[in-house]
This record gives sequence, structure tokens and C-alpha cells, in this order.
Amino acid sequence: MSRENESRPHFLSRRGMLLTSAAAAGTMALSGLPSPAQAQTSAAAAPFPTIRNRSAWNARAPRSTPGTVAGAPTYIVVHHTATANQTDYSLARAYSLSRGIQNWHMDNNGWIDSGQQFTISRGGHIMEGRSGSLLAVDGGYHLVGTHVANYNGVAVGIENEGTYNTVGPTGALWSSLIETCAWLCYFYGRPTSAIVGHRDLGSTQCPGNQLYSMLPILRSDVSNYLSNHSMTLSAPELSGSEIPPRPEVPADEPVVAYEHGPALGSDDINAHEG
Ligand SMILES: [Zn+2]
Repeated sequence: MSRENESRPHFLSRRGMLLTSAAAAGTMALSGLPSPAQAQTSAAAAPFPTIRNRSAWNARAPRSTPGTVAGAPTYIVVHHTATANQTDYSLARAYSLSRGIQNWHMDNNGWIDSGQQFTISRGGHIMEGRSGSLLAVDGGYHLVGTHVANYNGVAVGIENEGTYNTVGPTGALWSSLIETCAWLCYFYGRPTSAIVGHRDLGSTQCPGNQLYSMLPILRSDVSNYLSNHSMTLSAPELSGSEIPPRPEVPADEPVVAYEHGPALGSDDINAHEG
């Protein structure tokens, strides 16, 4: 089985974000440097999250190169994995989670790679999902994933490990979700109203009743995080018409391995993937 090697030397990207790849630690630390517009108000590097790149969790190579779309995605979609709320919060478990999702998506679903762009474990570890996701955010363009049917061309997805119908996520996961959403809002120039749940765009319970009910708090916490770090958003809030009417949710939706609702639709630009 081929494995990809995404280790890269340190480099400073054109958007001013320092991407470092520490081969020994297997991490990609994203040290945020402010864009020129924010430089005078945010001299110190903002505490951007550490996101583990694909080489860290030993990802398989994608079957083909994912498509890209110019410009930022419209939505930042919060998912749950609909798997057990297990209590192993280790980094090893987080890497195993990423490999398991990728194997399921490629081998069971027939997709070219992991569907989602980012994954957060119950231990709060953040990982790159689909190949090229980190570079896309850095470059300000959208890397097309497979996680929300008929919206994949305009939505970046975060898979949160667990099932959150009746309980909320761990504190570690919640903190990492705030940081990840703040990072995406900031680098994509999107408002916090761009943060939606899978069920806002498809017929599913995902990300669970409890986590879904926490999305207003998430948007508020992300907003506070950004303001506390002098990170200014430029885009206006979404209007009501930009968030489609919520579809019906099946009451008896089954929970199976790494399936949390419609992920690929006929209207998707990558509809051929499935
Ligand atoms: Zn979902």
C-alpha cells in the first residue's frame, strides 16, 4: 500500500502563514502571522492551532487529486463521526481515527480519499483530512471534499469524533473546534455565521442534537477568540436566504461506521467520486 509523504521543509507562504513540518514529531504547527491588514493591531503571532498533517497519521495516498475551487468556501460544516464516545484521548488514538476514517471512505465508500478536510479527536487533537486541505486554507482557495451532499463545492468540513445526540463533546474537543473554526474564518475571511451543522444542509441528525444546539455558543466563542486576538473578519454575516431551510431529519437514522448522513449528491462537482 502506497503511503504519501507530505513532509515539507519550513516555508513562509504567500499569505504569511508559517507552515512547519516537524518530521520527528509528525506535526504541522501553524504559527499564525497576521496579514498586512492586521499587522499593526496584532504584532504577536496568534496562537493558531497545531494541526497534524497527513504524514503524521500515515495517510494513504489519494486515488486522484481532489478538485479545487477558487476563493473561500461559503460554509464551515460541523459534523460528528457517529461513533462511540470512547475515552482514549491519546494522540495515537487520534491518528488511528484518521486512518480508520480514510480506510472507510476509500474502501467502503469508494471515494478518492478521506471525505472531510479536518478531523478533531475527543482528545482535542486536530488533523488534516483530505490531501491538500492545509495548503488550500493557506492559499485561500477551496479544496473539494466529500462530506455534505450537494454542497461539497462550497463547504469545508470538520469531523468531530463521537456521537452528540444527548451529550456534548469533551472540553478538549470543544476548545480545538473553536480554534479550528477561528482559523478557518480568519484565513478564509468568512463570518462566524458561516459555521453550520451538517443538518442545516442535508437530511441527517449530524452533528447530533446536543452539539447542534451548541452551535450558537460555538459561533460566539469563535467570535470572542478572534476579537481577543485582534483578528478581524471582513465578510458580512450570512443573510437568512444563504442558509437553506433545514431538511427533514429521519427519526430512525442508523448509526454505522463513519456515516453521518448524505455526503455526496448529484449536484456536487465531484459527484463522479462515489
Ligand atoms: Zn455529518
